[in-house]
Amino acid sequence: MTNVLHHQPAEARPLPRIAGVVSDLDGVVFRGDVAIDTAVTAFAAWARRGIPYCFVTNNSTRSPQSVAQKLNAMGVAVYADRVITSTDAALRILHARWPQGGTAYVIGAPALAQAVEAAGFAPADSAADCVVVGLDRSFTYDKLDKAARLVRAGAVLVGTNPDPMIPSPSGFDPGCGSILAAVATAAGATPIIAGKPERPLIDAAIDRLGVPRASIVMLGDQVSTDIVAGQRAGLFSILVRTGVPAPAHPVAVPDLTVDDLSALPQD
Ligand SMILES: [Mg+2]
Repeated sequence: MTNVLHHQPAEARPLPRIAGVVSDLDGVVFRGDVAIDTAVTAFAAWARRGIPYCFVTNNSTRSPQSVAQKLNAMGVAVYADRVITSTDAALRILHARWPQGGTAYVIGAPALAQAVEAAGFAPADSAADCVVVGLDRSFTYDKLDKAARLVRAGAVLVGTNPDPMIPSPSGFDPGCGSILAAVATAAGATPIIAGKPERPLIDAAIDRLGVPRASIVMLGDQVSTDIVAGQRAGLFSILVRTGVPAPAHPVAVPDLTVDDLSALPQD
């Protein structure tokens, strides 16, 4: 594997002494079901040194437990509480806004509805404090109508993530962002978004790590989501070129770009 550090912006921040890592999953740790060897080696080295890491994912349909199981099977040692999903980040938004709980109408996978209810938000479809939208493969016109009416009546619209599409074996499937856009359009509202490129998901991971923000790095393979989210959260953000191809017109400049994680200090 090559070990090349690529371009840095003109006023580059120096790479901090890494005391914590927030990392994307697909394209950084694995591609689909295949582990990326250099990532497995890097996380093993960080684990040996006692450097804490957290994984962040916009996917609201897989539980932290199932993601942690997949990572452990690939040789990346992690407990489920160090996997933060956009569902966790959405719940964090709800807690901040309604510390005592409330009522919610949920469009999304059954796991999302269960998580929202377990967090103290009773299901409601005639009047609700909030409408929470995740990826829903059973999305219907009736759900769209119900959600839009609730938001027009004052419910706060919260989306787990803004991804318009998600990779699938046959190419791409419509993502949460497409459903969220439908609800937002029908309601004439702007949603609050939990996942990348917004901050709540990253902030949840930072809280979990418990080390100073200035010594945490953000790893990701997508500039428009990972790098933007990391920079909004004030983290030193590193683009890892083991995932999606670099965009022709990136919306942000990473603090550092590496071919793979073997380029980062691990000792
Ligand atoms: Mg990725």
